[in-house]
Amino acid sequence: MRKAGAVFLDRDGVINRERGQHTWKREDLEVLPGVGKGISALRDLGYKVIVITNQSGIGLGLYGHKDVEELHRYIHSMLSAEGAVIDDMFYCPHHPSFGKCLCRKPGSLLIERAIGKHQVDVSRSVMIGDRDRDVEAAERVGMRGMLVRANSSLIDTLKEAELIRC
Ligand SMILES: [Mg+2]
Ligand SMILES: [Zn+2]
Repeated sequence: MRKAGAVFLDRDGVINRERGQHTWKREDLEVLPGVGKGISALRDLGYKVIVITNQSGIGLGLYGHKDVEELHRYIHSMLSAEGAVIDDMFYCPHHPSFGKCLCRKPGSLLIERAIGKHQVDVSRSVMIGDRDRDVEAAERVGMRGMLVRANSSLIDTLKEAELIRC
C-alpha cells in the first residue's frame, strides 16, 4: 500500500475559534469559515486529515475525556455533513503542572501514533498550527510545520502552502 500524505491540523485556532480559554462545550465552539471547504479539498487530493490537540483542561479538572470525545464527535458530524471528513483526532489530556508527558505538543507522541496508524508519508505531510509548539512537534518527526495566525483562514493557508490551488 502506498503511504499517504497527511495534513495535520491543530484544533483550537485552526479548526475552531481560539477564544483565549478552554473550549469543551458545543455552545462555545465556532468552526472557522472555510474549514470544511479546505478539508474537502485536501481529501479530494488524497491527503489524510488528522487533528492533534492539547486539551490540558482535562488535567486541570475543568472537563473530562467524555466532554472532549463528545465535542470531537460533534465537530466530525458537522464537517462530515458538508463533505469534509476528518480521518482521526488525537488529544493530550495532560496539564504540564502535574508532570511531563510525551503527548503534549511540542511532544510528538500523538503525531507518531497517527503516522503509524494511518501509514503516513512524513515527506509529503505538514502540520499546521498557531503555536510554536505545533511546529516543533512536527519538526521532531522530520515533518514540515507551518505556523499560522490564530483564527486565520485555512483555505488561505493551504494555498500559501501550495497544497491547494484557486
Ligand atoms: Mg491552537
Ligand atoms: Zn500528554
